[in-house]
Parts: sequence; structure tokens; C-alpha cells
Amino acid sequence: MRILLVEDEPEMAEALQGALHRHGMLVDLAGDIAHATEALQSRVHDLLLLDRQLPDGDGATLVAKARAVHVDLPVIMLTARGTLTDRIQGLDLGADDYLVKPFAIEELLARIRAISRRPAQIALPVASIGNLRYDFGAREVFVDGERLRLQRRQLLLLEALAYRHGRTVQREVLQEAVYGFDDAIQSNALDAHVSKLRRVLTEGGAHVEIHVIRGVGYLLREVANASPR
Ligand code: CA
Repeated sequence: MRILLVEDEPEMAEALQGALHRHGMLVDLAGDIAHATEALQSRVHDLLLLDRQLPDGDGATLVAKARAVHVDLPVIMLTARGTLTDRIQGLDLGADDYLVKPFAIEELLARIRAISRRPAQIALPVASIGNLRYDFGAREVFVDGERLRLQRRQLLLLEALAYRHGRTVQREVLQEAVYGFDDAIQSNALDAHVSKLRRVLTEGGAHVEIHVIRGVGYLLREVANASPR
């Protein structure tokens, strides 16, 4: 399960991230609305954990943005605003659940379990690029219907490219997709991952290419004149 945690208080963010990691969840952390918006656009999440009082505005405005990308993305709001009006407003704004700070991590975990038991109303999309299919729900890649196994970072890179296939994806977005927001990385590492991914895709028989847009990023597209295998 991949969670987008939007929380600006470092101690709170660290404590939550640590606890969720220990329970086997992948956590992307964003400290404000701007970064959270980027994260929502660059990858698929299974849950949004959202603080409302953020440095650049009310976190509640992210609910609509998130749902525009993923219609039934579960949202749990985490907030210090605990009045009845605030809770009702939070739910009216589209949150599935609402936790008032301070709360016990165990309670958050229980709410996450409850939300993830709900059946998805609409299946996550699948991207088809040439003979390659990327299933965002299962995080699986198929070439001519056969599963292609990728290493984790390659999979995350392909996911970010497939999500916006046919369009240029900026280097920063790809770096964040592969490493998360909190990792410091060298920018040439991204190019090395792209090279490896290209090789794996070619060897796997995928009729796609990862095109470099100098100084901007990369673009995934179908090879125009691919001959059938
Ligand atoms: Ca806050």
C-alpha cells in the first residue's frame, strides 16, 4: 500500500512515516499543497493522509485534486480542528474519515485497515503503450500479455512514465517517483535508471521507447514502426 502523507510538522510527519513504514506501507511525504499536488500527478497512491493546516493553504483543497486523478482514492484527514462543525465540514469536503490530533497510531492503523477493506468502486486504470500494458492497481507490467518483472526502482520509473505516456515527464517528477520526496540523490542516477529500464524493456520485447527531452525530462511512447515479434 502506497500512502501520500501531507503533513508540515516535521515531528508528526516523522513519527507517522516511521510507524507506517514499520507496518509495511510505502509513504511519500509532502509538506505542503504544492508538493502534494506534484506527488498526486506523478504516481498512484492507495490512500491520502491529509493535514488541513498547511503552510500554503487548507489541505482540504487537495481532496478534489486527488479525486480528479483517482476517483475513489480514500482520504483520511488529520487535524487539530476538532469541533463538530470542522468534522462535518471535513467529511462534506470529501474525506472518508477524520482523525483529531492528538491520536494514537493504533487508531490510525485501524482506520486505514477499515478503509482498505472497502471494495474499490472503479478499477484503477491500465495504460497501453504499444504492446506494453501497465496496470496501476496491481503495479504489474505486461508485454504481449506476458508479465515482465522489473526491479522496484525501474517499476516506479516506468509507472511515472506510463502515467503520462506520450507526454514529457520532468526529471524532478521522475526523481521523486523513484526516490521519494525525502531522499537526497544525484541527478545522474536517474539517467542510469533510465538506461537500465530501456534495456530491460527492449530485452522483454516491448515496442516502446524512452525518449530524452534534453534538459527537461523523458517521454515514453510506442515505437512507431515496430515489427511484430
Ligand atoms: Ca499543520
